[in-house]
Amino acid sequence: MHIIVLGAGIVGVTTAYFLHEKGYTVTVVDRQREVAVETSFGNAGHVCPSYATPWAAPGMPAKALKWTVQSWLGMETALRWSPRLDRHQWRWLRQFLSQCNAERYAINKARMGRLARYSHSQLKAIRERLDIQYEQTTGGNLQVFRTQEGLDNAGLAAGVLAEAGVPFQLLDVAGCMAFDPALEAARGQLVGGMLLPQDETGNCPLFARALAEWLKTQGVVFRLGTAVRALAHAGGELTGLHVDDEHGQSALLQADAYVVACASASVSLLAPLGLSLPVYPVKGYAITAPVTDAAAAPRSGVMDEYYKVAITRMGNHIRAAGTAEIGNWDTRVSPRDCATAIKSLKSLYPNGADMSRLQYWAGLRPMTPDGAPLIGATSYARLYLNAGHGSNGWTTACGSSRLIADRIAGVTSEIVSDDLGPLRVI
Ligand SMILES: Cc1cc2nc3c(=O)[nH]c(=O)nc-3n(C[C@H](O)[C@H](O)[C@H](O)COP(=O)(O)OP(=O)(O)OC[C@H]3O[C@@H](n4cnc5c(N)ncnc54)[C@H](O)[C@@H]3O)c2cc1C
Repeated sequence: MHIIVLGAGIVGVTTAYFLHEKGYTVTVVDRQREVAVETSFGNAGHVCPSYATPWAAPGMPAKALKWTVQSWLGMETALRWSPRLDRHQWRWLRQFLSQCNAERYAINKARMGRLARYSHSQLKAIRERLDIQYEQTTGGNLQVFRTQEGLDNAGLAAGVLAEAGVPFQLLDVAGCMAFDPALEAARGQLVGGMLLPQDETGNCPLFARALAEWLKTQGVVFRLGTAVRALAHAGGELTGLHVDDEHGQSALLQADAYVVACASASVSLLAPLGLSLPVYPVKGYAITAPVTDAAAAPRSGVMDEYYKVAITRMGNHIRAAGTAEIGNWDTRVSPRDCATAIKSLKSLYPNGADMSRLQYWAGLRPMTPDGAPLIGATSYARLYLNAGHGSNGWTTACGSSRLIADRIAGVTSEIVSDDLGPLRVI
């Protein structure tokens, strides 16, 4: 049986891996000429099964309103929103707001945590099997708090983690320094932290490319530089893909099944089939700077809860990523857009990075209103979906991809996954 995976981001590549594992013949198609150059390229690199949390939470509407007004007044904030005359945006926002209550939050958080923890086990199995090196750090990530309010909220989150059996440690300021001595330079700004010892970091595109290279040696075909223009269908089933290659040649590609892993672009691909996906692009920004003094750089992943900026040691570099911008679909970036990430990095690790050599990046998080990706069969025969991984796609890719491969193979999944289906009601 031949399966085409649409998309060669982290989700598409890991999907190809698990389909190959099942014995299928696999082709991966992507419009880009390289693997993992869109959203998967510049993410913060946190693999955070303990931290994975829906953005839709009680209290979020008020916070979002405050941030929006502040951003309209020109202040640096974690969230920016440009209202558009776009039914898709307003429908997504309405669905997002419907999830901002305690009951939905508990359900959504439990679902995301289950997937993220499963995904972590699958990631570890791949790296052990193939000995993939991707600038990973293990041994835990640290959340740091700059305000008492932030620390109090961590106390509430601790209850949820304890209930789920996820290890964590609430730390005072000295405890934060003990975990990451480079934070000494920021001692006066912190009130405490939470250590999540199971969480990790890693360079997502390095992992995706190493895995793709291995898959190629196993016979998986990567048709890069090939854009899917439209999905062909008849009688309620998918019959092929109309593609244009990089030389402008058009073709119809056919297989026995198709898995769409095109992140936010999945929406416009599936819309002509009458499938309306609850995925909306939420733009984020990242800066990357060379390490100047290893002792003054983070040892792994740090989440600056006040600015909502994730800071990560990636080999000889430090990355800082954050900001959620709703209503901005392009991936252009200016230094001004990265002001919050710069501020956070400079204040926590003032001597760790060469800030005169910053690289800037922006990507579109494919967000669902409830935070979890859409994994499973669609209402069209032969057409499957693995998309909408939002702010956690590096964390959840391996688990999602194992689930979709199990689903196609008709194998019972190792975790409950019915509530991750693309047709779920949000
Ligand atoms: C600022 C930022 C920080 C983040 N930090 C983290 C983090 O620390 N941890 C974490 O777990 N997640 C993080 N994420 C989220 C994570 O990066 C994404 O969830 C993940 O990369 C999504 O992977 P993907 O493969 O679905 O998407 P992509 O990497 O975007 O891949 C989709 C692919 O589909 C292809 N495609 C689209 N349309 C077509 C078409 N018509 N024809 C052919 N090909 C097509 C694209 O070229 C692309 O290669 C972050 C995201 C951002 C923006």
